[in-house]
Amino acid sequence: MSRPLVIHWFRQDLRLADNPALLAAANAGQVLPLYIFDDVDAGDHKMGAASRWWLHHSLSSLNTELNGRLQCFAGDAREIIARLVSQYSTVAIYWNRCYEPWRVEQDREIREQLQSLGVAAASFNGSLLWEPWENLKSDGTPYKVFTPFYQRGCLGAPAPRAPLPCPPSLELAPPNGGTVSELQLLPANPWHKKLGQAWHVGEQAAQARLKTFVSEILKDYETGRDFPAQQSVSRLSPHLHFGEISPNQAWHAATAISGSNQETFHKELAWREFSYSLLFHFPALPDNNWQPKFDAFPWRQDDEALHRWQRGQTGIPVVDAGMRELWETGYMHNRIRMVVASFLVKNLLIHWREGARWFWDCLVDADLANNSASWQWVAGCGADAAPYFRIFNPVTQGEKFDPDGSYTRRFVPELASLPDKYLFRPWQAPADLLDEAGVSLGQTYPHPIADLKASRESALAAFKSLGT
Ligand SMILES: Cc1cc2nc3c(=O)[nH]c(=O)nc-3n(C[C@H](O)[C@H](O)[C@H](O)COP(=O)(O)OP(=O)(O)OC[C@H]3O[C@@H](n4cnc5c(N)ncnc54)[C@H](O)[C@@H]3O)c2cc1C
Repeated sequence: MSRPLVIHWFRQDLRLADNPALLAAANAGQVLPLYIFDDVDAGDHKMGAASRWWLHHSLSSLNTELNGRLQCFAGDAREIIARLVSQYSTVAIYWNRCYEPWRVEQDREIREQLQSLGVAAASFNGSLLWEPWENLKSDGTPYKVFTPFYQRGCLGAPAPRAPLPCPPSLELAPPNGGTVSELQLLPANPWHKKLGQAWHVGEQAAQARLKTFVSEILKDYETGRDFPAQQSVSRLSPHLHFGEISPNQAWHAATAISGSNQETFHKELAWREFSYSLLFHFPALPDNNWQPKFDAFPWRQDDEALHRWQRGQTGIPVVDAGMRELWETGYMHNRIRMVVASFLVKNLLIHWREGARWFWDCLVDADLANNSASWQWVAGCGADAAPYFRIFNPVTQGEKFDPDGSYTRRFVPELASLPDKYLFRPWQAPADLLDEAGVSLGQTYPHPIADLKASRESALAAFKSLGT
C-alpha cells in the first residue's frame, strides 16, 4: 500500500540534516519537497540581489541532494499551497518556522486555510537555539539587554538540542513542478559572477566550512576575530541564514572544543538569537527606531555622499575597503561593518535605514533580524545599543585592526604603495610621499568626504539636540 503524501515546505532550512520538519515529514509518508519563492507580502524587504544569487545556488544544490525532486514555484504561498494540497490529496504539510513579521502573519493564515481544507499542518523550530517566546525574563517579558539575555536566558535554559540525523529513508514524490532556473533568481547583470569566486554554496559546503572552522580556526577566534585580514571568523552567516546549516550544528560542533574561544563563539550565536528575539517581539524593528526618542534625530539627506559611501569612494581608506569588500564578495567582516555603519550614521549623519537597505541588497547573509538589530545597535537607537557618543574613528580603527594594512591594500589597491603610516589618512601624507606612491588625491583617490573631527562634533551636537 502506498504511503500518504505529505509536503515538506522548504524555506530557510535548505538542508537535509538536522531538519526537524523534514524528518517528521519523512516519518509520516512519501514526501513532496517544495520551495516557493514568495515575496508578495515582504513590502520593503523583498530579497536583495546578492541573496537571490545565493538562493539560486543553494536551491540547485538541494535539488541535487534530492535527486532532482525539488518542486519550485513563484508566487503567493497561500494560493500555491491551497492548489497543491487539493491537486495531490495531501494529508499534511510540514515546515520549519521563520520569524520575519510578514511570514509570521502569512503562516497564521496558511494554518487557518489548511484547517478549513482538513489538511494537517505542523511547524517546527529549525532555525533558532531557543524560541523567542521561550527565552523571556522571569516576569514573562522579552529581554532588552544582551548580557542577561545570554547569561540568564540562554545559559539558564536547557542546552540546545543535539542535531538530528538526516532522514534515514526519504521516499520522494515524482517531480511535477517548476525547476530552480524557472524562478529566475539570478540578476540580469553579470556583477554576481564575482560572488562565485568568494563562496561555495549549499549544505555540503556549509558542513565543510564548519569542520574547517572548528578544527583549524576556532582556536584563534577570540583574539583573531577583530582583524579583517585574518581568516579568524567562521563565515557561516549566509549558510546560517539560508539554513544550510543549523545553529544547533554550529553550537554543538564548537562545544567539543574547550576554552574561551568556544564561549566567545557561542556568544556570537546568542547575538543572533537576541536579534531574532528583538524582531519577534518588536516587529517594527526593520523600519522604526527601537528607541522612539531618535524619531526627532536631525538626519541629513545627501544623495551624493550616500552614493560615494555605497561605492567605496569616501576617501576614508578603511571605509572604502569595507564597502568594496561588500560589493565584490557579498560579505563584510564584522569589525568593518561597525566602522562603515558608524561613518554613515555619525560622520555623514545619514539615516541608518539607508545603510541597512544597501546592506540588504548587497550581503549574501542579509538577514532581517541581524541586519536591523545591528544597524540600530551601531546607530545608538537600538536595544542595548552602543552609546551614541561612541563614534568609531576610522583612522585609528584601521591602524589597530589592520596593522599591516593588508586588508585595506587588497580592496583599495590604488593606495597599496603608501607607507603604513599614511595608509589610513592619505590626506595628511607629504606631497612627495604621495607622488612616490602614485597617489594623486582628487584624481587617483578621492579627498575625504567628511572632516572626521568636525563631523564627530556635529554628530554629538545632533545627539544633544534630542535632549538626552
Ligand atoms: C551594520 C551591521 C549589519 C549586519 N548585518 C548582518 C546581516 O544582515 N546578517 C547577518 O547574519 N549578520 C549581520 N551582522 C552581524 C555580523 O557582522 C555578521 O553576522 C558576521 O560578520 C558574519 O560573519 P561570520 O559568520 O564569520 O561571523 P562569526 O564571528 O563567525 O559569528 C558566527 C555567527 O554568529 C552570528 N553573529 C555574529 N555576530 C553577530 C551579531 N553582531 N549580530 C547577530 N548575529 C551575529 C552570525 O550568524 C555568525 O554567522 C551585521 C553587523 C553590523 C555591524
